Amino acid sequence: MKRKERAIITVDGYSSCGKSTFAKAIARELNYIYIDSGAMYRAVTLFCLRKGYVSGGVADAAKIISSLPEIKITFRMNDKTRFNETLLNGESVEREIRDRAVSDNVSAVSTIAEVRAKMVELQREMGTLGGIVMDGRDIGTIVFPDAPLKIFMTATPSVRAHRRYLELQEKGMPADIEAVEKNINDRDRIDSSREISPLCRADDAVVLDNSEMTPEEQMVWFRKLFKERMNEN
Ligand code: C5P
Repeated sequence: MKRKERAIITVDGYSSCGKSTFAKAIARELNYIYIDSGAMYRAVTLFCLRKGYVSGGVADAAKIISSLPEIKITFRMNDKTRFNETLLNGESVEREIRDRAVSDNVSAVSTIAEVRAKMVELQREMGTLGGIVMDGRDIGTIVFPDAPLKIFMTATPSVRAHRRYLELQEKGMPADIEAVEKNINDRDRIDSSREISPLCRADDAVVLDNSEMTPEEQMVWFRKLFKERMNEN
């Protein structure tokens, strides 16, 4: 596949509709770098949980804002998986940030404007060289509004809950399907209704509803789109 130099591809959408699997597959195919922006919000949330600045979905915004200078989020390439793992102040937290406690509190932390400003700045820095696929909630609307290819993903809530449940089980993490479904619904509600950078489709994003699609079918869909949008001339 011909590569459009330095392009940025954004993948936004609802919780657990397979954004990261899809974005990773695209990145692998195009030889781009995949960046998981949700991992950054999750790492900040883990820091806040450890300090007791968030619990039960309620965040102490003042304490979180004043401790932002102490929070350093970076990524490191894992040579085995060939994907970036998330570091919080130099510590790999890739597994811990997927824990239920983080999932239950991340949307509350993500509503804080100062947290978002810091993450968006970092994300834009990572995009300066192009050649990236970044997934999240506001990547096509706020972080890279000029990206040449934007995808907005969705799937039915029950399909999403089932996928997330299977994913957690595969990772050996205890899961309860009802709790998973509740968490997905809660996060979607908070993420879509927050005042700053709510989850919404960018006007120029292409919708991908993958409720009935296999990962391979998604890639067929993507290749066609990429060819139409990026290789035209
Ligand atoms: O993508 P993931 O489900 O890991 O994201 C976890 C949470 O981080 C989301 O539910 C949302 O609250 C927050 N997030 C965000 N903006 C992004 C990415 C994630 O607010 N760009």
